[in-house]
Amino acid sequence: MRQLVCHACNAVNRMPLGKDASEAKCGRCGDRLFVGHPIEVSGEELAAHRRSTQGLALLVDVWAPWCGPCRMMAPHFEKAAARLEPNVRLLKLNSEDEPHAAAELQVSGIPTLLLFRDGKLVARQAGAMSADQIVAWTNQALAKAAA
Ligand code: ZN
Repeated sequence: MRQLVCHACNAVNRMPLGKDASEAKCGRCGDRLFVGHPIEVSGEELAAHRRSTQGLALLVDVWAPWCGPCRMMAPHFEKAAARLEPNVRLLKLNSEDEPHAAAELQVSGIPTLLLFRDGKLVARQAGAMSADQIVAWTNQALAKAAA
């Protein structure tokens, strides 16, 4: 069973593992659960995703509008979303709007990628990456976490 939070209405949805997750729709609002794009979250929403996501990983891009490398990485992170869904859900946390959440996650330099599995942080990486590097790093970190 997979469980995840709807990006549109924040309802917690469950779906069987075998079902094609990329077509799945939210039971409350009917929106697609996987949209092929990273989702902007607040610190509170990120906490809800961490609490309620099961059976898939969360990859969080911690960024800020003033950060050049962050803006450079954004289209790569966008491309990586299309390739990593539905096994990984990609979120973006604006550290300028959510400084407390970023501090709690001990993010010092940005961009930083944080990878969560079952609510736990399994890997982190600072510095801009290409889409290929993001996908490779994520898959490698998940394989290591599962071993
Ligand atoms: Zn919904």
